[in-house]
Amino acid sequence: MADVERILSEFQRDPRFSKNITFWHTLPAEPPRYGEWPEAMAPELIEAMRRRGVEHLYSHQSEAVRLALRGDNVIVVTPTASGKTLCYNLPVLDHLTRVNPEARALYLFPTKALSQDQVLELRETAGELGRPLKIHTFDGDTPASARRAIRNSGHVVVTNPDMLHTGILPHHTLWIRLFENLQYVVVDEVHHYRGVFGSHLANLMRRLRRICAFYGSNPRFICCSATIANPKELAERLFGRRFSLVDDNGAPRGEKHFIFYNPPVINEELGIRKSVVSEASRIAASFLENNVQTIVFGRSRLRVEILTTYLKRAMQRAKKDPDRIRGYRGGYLPNERRDIEEGTRSGRYLGVVSTNALELGIDIGRLNAAVLAGYPGSIASTWQQGGRAGRSQGTSAVVLVASSAPLDQFIIQHPRFFFGASPESGLINPQNLAILASHLKCGAFELPFADGEAFGEDEVDGLLRYLEEERVLRHAGDKWHWSSQAYPAEEISLRSASAENFVIINTSDHNKVLGEVDLHSAPMLIHEQAIYLHQSRQFVIDQLDWEGRTAYAREVEVDYYTDAIEESDIKVIAEDMSDRIQTRSGESVASATRYFGEVSVSTIVPKYKKIRFETHENVGYGDIHLPQLDKQTESYWMEISAELANHLQSLGVDLGGGLRALATALGNVAPVFVLCDPKDIHAAPMVRAPFSGLPTIYIYDVYPGGIGIARKIFDMDERLFTASRELIEGCICKSGCPSCAGPSLEIGERGKSSALEILKYLT
Ligand SMILES: [Zn+2]
Repeated sequence: MADVERILSEFQRDPRFSKNITFWHTLPAEPPRYGEWPEAMAPELIEAMRRRGVEHLYSHQSEAVRLALRGDNVIVVTPTASGKTLCYNLPVLDHLTRVNPEARALYLFPTKALSQDQVLELRETAGELGRPLKIHTFDGDTPASARRAIRNSGHVVVTNPDMLHTGILPHHTLWIRLFENLQYVVVDEVHHYRGVFGSHLANLMRRLRRICAFYGSNPRFICCSATIANPKELAERLFGRRFSLVDDNGAPRGEKHFIFYNPPVINEELGIRKSVVSEASRIAASFLENNVQTIVFGRSRLRVEILTTYLKRAMQRAKKDPDRIRGYRGGYLPNERRDIEEGTRSGRYLGVVSTNALELGIDIGRLNAAVLAGYPGSIASTWQQGGRAGRSQGTSAVVLVASSAPLDQFIIQHPRFFFGASPESGLINPQNLAILASHLKCGAFELPFADGEAFGEDEVDGLLRYLEEERVLRHAGDKWHWSSQAYPAEEISLRSASAENFVIINTSDHNKVLGEVDLHSAPMLIHEQAIYLHQSRQFVIDQLDWEGRTAYAREVEVDYYTDAIEESDIKVIAEDMSDRIQTRSGESVASATRYFGEVSVSTIVPKYKKIRFETHENVGYGDIHLPQLDKQTESYWMEISAELANHLQSLGVDLGGGLRALATALGNVAPVFVLCDPKDIHAAPMVRAPFSGLPTIYIYDVYPGGIGIARKIFDMDERLFTASRELIEGCICKSGCPSCAGPSLEIGERGKSSALEILKYLT
């Protein structure tokens, strides 16, 4: 589009804009690359595809289908809108056409909206084949009257992991036709299955494979993922099978400009920058006023509302129709969302402002520009949101506008890191004891376990014996039987690690259940007066009934969030690995050691802070009165030797403040490298660790038992040290701020410089 090019060159000429650009990356146009139709594929299917206008397959589609037809499990990693759906629909349709018309396929998608689109596309292709294929969505909205027909006759059943967990596997005897004939399991958006959710999914897949084996089937898996560092490894851990990777995208694309924009500093002392919302809306308005179709992403529902208002006003000022700008987020009614999706596809709407609700594969067509108001939290999400802009021909632009948050500041100042090899890994730990035990209960309910039977890689007799002592299993003959009245899957949430959950009740909406929070997260997230975020809506917790495990929430719109202050006491239970950290050479005093092991963490949460969204200013405190909680988890820790500590102090280093600052910075950069939420880890500094008496920083997995993050940090701590140093050095503040090592009120006047001094010996 000539308009996009013209606006981009105006940006370049305008000093108010160009001086804030930290990076301008141009991805050249790529012509399409095609592959052959796989030889084994049914000729009538190829004919049907041609009639639908698909003359050739792109090279990655051809490769994925060829591998699937050969019997491989396949993971496809290509960008948004590169035609991934054919990579799994063609093998499924081929099998139904050529091999077994009664075969079955199970599609797992993380959201419902996505499923609707998939169903439509598959149905049209099947229609073209002239085969009466039954494709059904089975989820919480499926009416009871339709369920029986779906169970018996659905060739392709489209569902989500929660439904498989509570609605399908426990009732497998009603789904015999599906399990006897299950040929393919298709799982999209695999990168979403990480951490606790991914660890659950891996166990859910073990249960699925067990049931399939019982009915004599052995399905193959076809998966898709956004770009992460370890897609093949993640798929192999999730599904317990060997996978072939397809990641060479053959789809064409036009020239694309990726621009990093850091709002100008307005207060150097506090490290405050101009608001991301006003800067992002100014940039988006330049596109919209010139009739360039644009999508704007905001991190919260509140931001989306403000951005929508600003952009409607900008349109009015430009004498254009403000109704062509629409907001989009969870909480809108389905037909309103369908209208926005359709209107964006057709061009009726010029601008759409969305939360990450539109990040997943909902079809809104492709736009010419995307403006990201704030870093979406991971490189994978950034590519997905940016992927909304860009057609197969013509120029498109993506502008990432940073907020003051540490992750944003790290990314915006390290663009090469962003455009280099993706360093984020999707981590899971299917062997997490709490999660594994939950699924053993579900598995035993579904089918008794035989002595010595493996679940995943290992046999599980020890855990089964423990569950017998807990009186939920009974050993009889050579089998373990479920012996409780309760129905286990109902009580196990795929999104939390502990079975003991708090229920959150929405008092603004007829006391409906809003969500659940596990025991160990409860004091941090749902203490009284906490602001609880749910799908980017804000709720205040009015009351927390600790004994009754219930929190009462009321919907509000405020400009701050709450951050509870956790005080933990950490004891090392087992030291599994240790290794000397390579310190600056030529310094005989310099030494530090890294460890990985199991720790026990006792936590109290005495206070919370109120923090303003845009500036991260502290705008108030409150007290919390809740009991102490104990848990065991995995931890990484870094210990400074007595010699190095003495040496640092002789240089005038404030060890306490420096360790606090360093712990904050490490906690801020770790999620960039390890694909996790900042809340999944906790970094705790101790000037004198009780275990050794030495200065130590612990970074532990917040979930009891751990989900693999601490172990990964042990392997890559030197990269985290380097990144922390770059974050702190690159920050414009004088003595610490929320964008780098924490405000100087918390880390002391010398905290920032002391952290840098310590880091000199670690990098
Ligand atoms: Zn700073």
